[in-house]
Amino acid sequence: TTAMAVTRQSIERINSTDGQLNAFVTRCDDAAFKEAAAADVQLRAGSAGPLTGIPLGLKDIFSTKGVRTTCGSKILDNYVPVYDATVVERLRKQGAVIIGKLNMDEFAMGSSNETSSAGVCRNPWDRNHVPGGSSGGSAVAVAAGQVAAALGTDTGGSIRQPAAHCGVVGLKPTYGRVSRYGVIAYASSLDQVGPITRNVEDCALLLAAIAGYDPRDSTSVDRPVPDYQASLNEGVAGKKIGLPREYFIDGLDPEVKRAVDAAMEVYRGLGAELVPVSLPHTDYSVACYYLIATAEASSNLARYDGVRFGVRHAGAGGLIDMYQQTRSAGFGDEVKRRIMLGTYALSSGYYDAYYLKAQKVRTLIRQDFTRVFAQVDLLLTPVAPTAAFKIGEKTDDPLQMYLSDIFTIPANLAGTCAMSIPCGFDAAGLPIGLQLIGKPFGEGEMLQAARAFE
Ligand code: GLN
Repeated sequence: TTAMAVTRQSIERINSTDGQLNAFVTRCDDAAFKEAAAADVQLRAGSAGPLTGIPLGLKDIFSTKGVRTTCGSKILDNYVPVYDATVVERLRKQGAVIIGKLNMDEFAMGSSNETSSAGVCRNPWDRNHVPGGSSGGSAVAVAAGQVAAALGTDTGGSIRQPAAHCGVVGLKPTYGRVSRYGVIAYASSLDQVGPITRNVEDCALLLAAIAGYDPRDSTSVDRPVPDYQASLNEGVAGKKIGLPREYFIDGLDPEVKRAVDAAMEVYRGLGAELVPVSLPHTDYSVACYYLIATAEASSNLARYDGVRFGVRHAGAGGLIDMYQQTRSAGFGDEVKRRIMLGTYALSSGYYDAYYLKAQKVRTLIRQDFTRVFAQVDLLLTPVAPTAAFKIGEKTDDPLQMYLSDIFTIPANLAGTCAMSIPCGFDAAGLPIGLQLIGKPFGEGEMLQAARAFE
């Protein structure tokens, strides 16, 4: 086959499905065909790499040169970046075909893809259900066969939770493993870029393609990228897999529990040793996250003032009025809620009680992981307490929405890697995800365990 044929297939699939799913915010059909033609030249010349001619989608949070980048927000409705994010540049250099930009919660704030300026995105397994979020469009595009794979970002679960809800593989790398340069910032100490794919091997390939040091991101780590593929089939015999007791709680849906219990038996059968462990500060994760993430967001989002980026709403009353009109009209309710929460947590008189306290709790959470990773190689947990919920079910209750990330947030606070792999279905036929949490920079070992389960 040719890259051209594969690209055409991808685009035809989008044409026939996306009217109902709404995964794409912006399509790049013409550019994609040009890239496919270039990929075919390489394929014929025998100089192709593993990504040459592969149709990929990008969450609309990645800066793409000359291609509109909205971050799911009205305030960036007309924003066209003048440069590519480092991860996009790397994919292009390796011959990937960029099919388009994918739906997401506004500024990556959400767990359901319902806060997007491009409208809700639907779960392909049941279109009355959410796909999860914030990288909902990325998970949907992969699950529905619109693209071979996609990139998302994960600040508190936004790769792993939608991957779980859509029955695909999603990986959040260790903080610093992948460059954030050109990725629109939500909470900079938590954000990481990662792959969403149909299987574990694709995940290993795509991670290798984007990982590595970038001098333009001072938090990226200068450390060699292992050959994830080479060790992929080594199995889990003799590995110690920890089962953190705090993740098997009352709120856990019995069908999710059943699927995760069955996965444990699979690992036991493959020769892994399952070890009960404890991460005692887990209970504080959601509260800690919603202070730190909103504090950082309030600061990061200060740049959208109608002057330098995106849409401007002119006010009659001068500069301050213009700022106010622009931000009032440009940001959605959830983004405004977070800016207010974060500004409050950082304000003088409250900083010590909220932000500083949250940073201390974050250290305790991180130390929990350091302690258990001295005992075990990996952790096994559910990804989310339930399978995908109904569209509209949690929109009026932010706390319920926030609690859907209870099992994914701790890995972001600790900075370590974690991934979601499909592990079954509930009675309604909706996919259930299994989470593996690895040691810092332990992506190789984690992928190996994920591969063994497939
Ligand atoms: N749902 C979480 C939030 O709203 C996580 C989002 C994310 O990982 N980007 O903050």
